[in-house]
Amino acid sequence: MATISMGKESEWVPRKKTLQVRVRNMHIGSEHPVAVQSMTNTDTGDVNATVAQIIELHKAGSELVRFTVQNLRMARAVADIRKTLDDLGYDVPLVGDFHYNGHQLLREVPSCADALDKYRINPGNVGFGEKHDDNFKSILEVAKDHDKPVRIGVNWGSLDQSVLTKMMDDNKSSKNPMSADDIMVSAVVESAVQSVNKAIEYGVEPNKIIVSTKISEVSKMVKAYQMLSERIEQPLHLGLTEAGIGSKGVAASSAALSLLLTKGIGDTIRVSLTPTPGSSRAEEVKVCRQILQALDIRHFVPLVTSCPGCGRTTSTTFQEMAEDLSSYLQERMPEWKGAGYAGVEEMKVAVMGCVVNGPGESKMAQIGISLPGSGENPSCLIYEDGKQVAAVKADVARAEFKKHLENYVTTHYSKKK
Ligand code: SF4
Repeated sequence: MATISMGKESEWVPRKKTLQVRVRNMHIGSEHPVAVQSMTNTDTGDVNATVAQIIELHKAGSELVRFTVQNLRMARAVADIRKTLDDLGYDVPLVGDFHYNGHQLLREVPSCADALDKYRINPGNVGFGEKHDDNFKSILEVAKDHDKPVRIGVNWGSLDQSVLTKMMDDNKSSKNPMSADDIMVSAVVESAVQSVNKAIEYGVEPNKIIVSTKISEVSKMVKAYQMLSERIEQPLHLGLTEAGIGSKGVAASSAALSLLLTKGIGDTIRVSLTPTPGSSRAEEVKVCRQILQALDIRHFVPLVTSCPGCGRTTSTTFQEMAEDLSSYLQERMPEWKGAGYAGVEEMKVAVMGCVVNGPGESKMAQIGISLPGSGENPSCLIYEDGKQVAAVKADVARAEFKKHLENYVTTHYSKKK
């Protein structure tokens, strides 16, 4: 079986502070919070549809939004997308994703080059041989002219074949040849590092570059970023490419991103989920935020601790309550934040199914409710700061608990002036 060595965990060195890159109204890297990104799946040439999805993603928490720019029609739509967002009051940074013809589109449509806040360049998709360097340089010239940062985004599915071929040839004559998997990962990293060096050689300032090395297998992706983080000082955009659909994509992305983020590697993240038919594109944004929050890296909305339920919870009351309260907290957050309740996003809320772990877990949260399991006294116990403060009947439990929540927020979180 092909394996890849990720090194002993104890050998991992936490990443040093990176450079910081300004993208429109925000900074990425250094001490700045790990930023959440996403990408649209609309036709970029359809301004209304693209604007609507950008707003949906941004409202869900995407701090930058990327879209493909693959032809002149799309390139000409970009300025309209920016203007429409500005008119509607959305200052979200926009990133253009270019492959094959980015050098032409950015030159031919200056309004596109100007309206974008960052250009994503895939070094594997900018042409071959001499053209590769000419096209790469041409995009970078535009970036310099318009004072825009770039992301050098290597993807193993479109890896620069000249880098891979050379490494494979060198490996053949090596005394200690690497495995095919190790060569592939090393080639991804090498392509990124060479591209960064070339960009700097062509006059791009080091603090105008963000880098990614996306791979669709967790262990290889983690290894690539680990190696990359030791070789460059630019901020890294993390992503497990083609993560997959549903729980598979969520689990794989969470595993990959967590391994890196806990070592201080990663300055922006994206979760590349395949949306299930009819689901919201914003799902990938929610997963990003949940990963950051689960790791205590950033907090966005109070978390609900709820048990899975079991044979002791005989009705769906408990599940409905856990779901309803999660939605309620999401809905209330903008108002609580707007009112200046500092730190409310870190509040821990528990919704538990029975007496076995209910009181204990509820006491450990700031505020919690423990419902009665089958055969128990039919009272729902409400706890605040480790003490029981009420016992209410099941039919009014949700409403009563929300009243306690509101009161808890206003009395426990100071208002920022
Ligand atoms: S707390 Fe009670 S209902 Fe929830 S999983 Fe544990 S035993 Fe089951």
